[in-house]
Amino acid sequence: MPLSTHDVIIAGGGPTGLMLAGELALAGVDVAIVERRVNQEVEGSRASGLHPRAIELLDQRGIADRFVSQGDKHHVVLFAGVVLDASDRPTRHNYTLALWQAKIERGLADWISELAVPVYRGCEVTGSEQDDTGVTVRLDDTRMLESKFLVGCDGGRSLVRKTANIDFPGWDPAISYLIFEADMADEPALGMRHGEKGVYALGRLEDGKRVRGVVTEQELERGEPDSAALRAALVAAYGSDFGVHNVTWLSRFTDAARQAAAYRKGRILLAGDAAHVHSPVGGQGLNIGLQDAVNLGWKLAQVVRDISPDSLLDTYHAERHPVGAALLKNTLALTALNRGDARTSALREMMVGVMQMDALRRWYAAMMSSLDIRYDLGEGHGLLGRRMPDLDLVTGDGPTRVFAFLHDARPLLLNFGEPGSLDIVGRADRIKLIDAKLVGKCELPVIGVVEAPTAVLIRPDGHVVWVGEGSAKGLNEALGTWFGNATEA
Ligand SMILES: Cc1cc2nc3c(=O)[nH]c(=O)nc-3n(C[C@H](O)[C@H](O)[C@H](O)COP(=O)(O)OP(=O)(O)OC[C@H]3O[C@@H](n4cnc5c(N)ncnc54)[C@H](O)[C@@H]3O)c2cc1C
Repeated sequence: MPLSTHDVIIAGGGPTGLMLAGELALAGVDVAIVERRVNQEVEGSRASGLHPRAIELLDQRGIADRFVSQGDKHHVVLFAGVVLDASDRPTRHNYTLALWQAKIERGLADWISELAVPVYRGCEVTGSEQDDTGVTVRLDDTRMLESKFLVGCDGGRSLVRKTANIDFPGWDPAISYLIFEADMADEPALGMRHGEKGVYALGRLEDGKRVRGVVTEQELERGEPDSAALRAALVAAYGSDFGVHNVTWLSRFTDAARQAAAYRKGRILLAGDAAHVHSPVGGQGLNIGLQDAVNLGWKLAQVVRDISPDSLLDTYHAERHPVGAALLKNTLALTALNRGDARTSALREMMVGVMQMDALRRWYAAMMSSLDIRYDLGEGHGLLGRRMPDLDLVTGDGPTRVFAFLHDARPLLLNFGEPGSLDIVGRADRIKLIDAKLVGKCELPVIGVVEAPTAVLIRPDGHVVWVGEGSAKGLNEALGTWFGNATEA
């Protein structure tokens, strides 16, 4: 007998699993998380911030302020250790929000608790089997849960991925790094440096006293590090270990880059680090995991609720696998550029100069913030397949903005033309139709200003799947493709 049954079980309550759970709960799906940790505490400081698109995702759900109020805004991007201005990105959130992963997870955990998502804490997924009707999720030899779908959000060493026999090809590690939090008796050399092997850095934690550092190791090491390894790495990098002591967190990571060959195998799906691992350079992993979750959430909800056929889930792999592949490539490139040998340093200096060129700076800033993502929905208006910018609107109720209509994660048809000229007959139960006037220009990162549409059909993840250009041509087809058949009146 199963302990319980749910529509969807999520293995892992890190940032990706929490975000996905929130998306599914908003869509009315019975979802539960199985999380190994007994509480939401994150060991050590991992991710240090949110990029513009991730903040937009939170804003789409009306919860961005909770995060933004806790962090510092930096209107720049880093390229190979050099700061580039990024304040001209056309978004309300044209900054990186400096916020530790612990606070990001806490904010997401509070949100899903408000949405009453059950979390089986202190429980581990130990295996799973699927058939045509559902998935059995094993917790140990005697306890199990049953669900229609299982999503592995269980991190880079994902057991869900392994037990589903999903390949994880990629690049083996070439460099290992130690990351730590500690006290230092001597004054440390703060800041970032380029060494022969790669970049390393020391900085103060929030209390202004303790030190957080990342140091490269002389040889590629694996497994759990100890204090002796940390001292040796500090001495090799700085000629001193600065009297390091009271090491409260010490972990090892590498520049290995791997990606799941398939994000879906039947009723089992992968998201976040379970689907892609790479070097933390550029601070992108958590951000991309949140995007995976928001792309998958509404699709899974529509399939569970029999609104859409199972094939809608294939678009999750089709859309997100290329994003993950591009992420791996950019981390490989940035890691290579960070090496400190004379030839790479010369190349880096040249690239830093090239990157000051306005068009390239804007391209890079858009890429690192994921504002440039376009899902391949064919030829068409500049907005097609891209995220809908949060433009100012005026409706019968007064001034507002696009994201205000996405809080409940429902599809949205915005009609900027003659009020009442579009209809969603047979789908009003699942789609919101709003007549509005567009205020200002429609500007996209890198592309620039595009012609104002007369209507847009927006998915719950904020991406545009149909653009009206003076008529309703193609609207019905897009509604059917993405949001299921119309029901009889
Ligand atoms: C040093 C470092 C710095 C980083 N800096 C950044 C940054 O600045 N910006 C950024 O975006 N990203 C950064 N990252 C990456 C970021 O930390 C990860 O991408 C992010 O945590 C991935 O989230 P996730 O939810 O997919 O996986 P995880 O955070 O790994 O969460 C997985 C969860 O699953 C649970 N779990 C695992 N196995 C099981 C199981 N069998 N059963 C039940 N539960 C299980 C775990 O306890 C965990 O809670 C950094 C990473 C490192 C290591």
